[in-house]
Amino acid sequence: MTSDPFFHPVSGFDLPRFAGVPTFMRLPHLGLDDPRLADVRIGLVGVPWDSGTTNRPGPRHGPRQLRDASTMIRAQHGVTGVRPFEMVNCADLGDVGPNPADIQDSLSRITAFYDRLVQAGITPLTAGGDHLTSLPVLRALAKSGPLGMVHFDSHTDLFHSYFGGTMYTHGTPFRRAVEEGLLDPKRVVQIGIRGTAYDSEDRDFADSVGIRVIPIEEFHARGVTDVMAEARQIVGTAPTYLSYDIDFVDPTFAPGTGTPEVGGPNSYQALQVVRELAGVNLIGADMVEVSPPFDASGNTAFLAVSIMFEMLCVMAPQLARG
Ligand code: MN
Ligand code: MN
Repeated sequence: MTSDPFFHPVSGFDLPRFAGVPTFMRLPHLGLDDPRLADVRIGLVGVPWDSGTTNRPGPRHGPRQLRDASTMIRAQHGVTGVRPFEMVNCADLGDVGPNPADIQDSLSRITAFYDRLVQAGITPLTAGGDHLTSLPVLRALAKSGPLGMVHFDSHTDLFHSYFGGTMYTHGTPFRRAVEEGLLDPKRVVQIGIRGTAYDSEDRDFADSVGIRVIPIEEFHARGVTDVMAEARQIVGTAPTYLSYDIDFVDPTFAPGTGTPEVGGPNSYQALQVVRELAGVNLIGADMVEVSPPFDASGNTAFLAVSIMFEMLCVMAPQLARG
């Protein structure tokens, strides 16, 4: 399977990378009513929304910054040689329009957008947005049954509620997803968990439903290759979602996020963990919690889009085979 040249990104050989209107990876931008939507296999989508944020806000500004930083990405992987944009048709499908004043309305709008992608047979790669973004995306993707998930994060995001009963925050999306039957907890692995805690309520829930939590001390002791072999074994061959909170990475490398935790992986390991997912049956992925107001150097956004390119380099070959 090869892609239609219409869907190839603009090359820096043809137009300097600082020029032009920035789209994700310099891909063509299509609206959902574009007749060419039927030809798209991987859709990059922005969700500029952070109404689930409980601490320092800013990920609503993520998609615009990530589009700009993504103009730095070239067409070929530096290690594997994979050229994802020539394997399947990829496009920038624009942003979901959230309602920043109404969480439930925003959740509905996001799910409605992704329902249309599912109907069109498009695998979404999302740029958030805070981590609550993953819940409405999963509601659209898990229509045929619960999914597995590989989740990179400092935090489990499995808390029951905040502020005495608020159920929808960026600390609760995967608790709701398990309750709603969107995730099969036995096929969920959370990697990189660390930092000070409110209490152990989230970890106790993980244990009670069989979610595998790999805390950071185990990650560093075992190393990327061993940990990711276990992750692949946990999710198996059935449909699996990939969710990547940029605060998984050490704040030295990714300071631009709302809830940083020290002692994390470096930027090389941040890429490597995704490369180790080659062959996994990924039906969608996201990169969340990039907060440009805290990203003075722009390094966080550049790392995030570099990780998104790693995601494309495992998703495209898988889709091209299927
Ligand atoms: Mn998170
Ligand atoms: Mn986090």
